[in-house]
Amino acid sequence: MTLKFITTTELGRLSKWLRILGYDVVYYVTCKKSDLFLKSLREDRIILTRNLKLSKPTSRKVLFIKSTNYKQQLKEVIETLNLKVDRFRMFSRCVICNRLLKEIPKEKIKDKVPPFAFKTHENFMQCVNCRRIYWSGTHWLNMDKVIAEISKAKRRKSK
Ligand SMILES: [Zn+2]
Repeated sequence: MTLKFITTTELGRLSKWLRILGYDVVYYVTCKKSDLFLKSLREDRIILTRNLKLSKPTSRKVLFIKSTNYKQQLKEVIETLNLKVDRFRMFSRCVICNRLLKEIPKEKIKDKVPPFAFKTHENFMQCVNCRRIYWSGTHWLNMDKVIAEISKAKRRKSK
């Protein structure tokens, strides 16, 4: 079963990165503790937080994140929970609203992406919710690099 997460307000960047990896992440900005635990329980989500108060009643559903650096945070999550970085699942989810992306025919988005992107790419994805359009441009390549960095470090450790 694939893990799902709920992140607290100080972990916005980590949330985006977990979504890039394809994970379902609710970024929980209103910090009402009881609601947070309820939501985590109801939707079977692991709470990721840097808030020590939240991690106090030791529950197996809370993972306290030590680092303040998002790359290190991502590494912590991947290593602690032994997550698999699956290239086929990467870039399948909108980093802003957590919804799955759908392929969209190229001719439909001609006026919605920069001309250069339109000319140089064949495959485009769209978020069903916010309508944001994604393609594997340089932005994604940078993300790819970070992911490679992190998973390389992980491989070295586990083998
Ligand atoms: Zn979206």
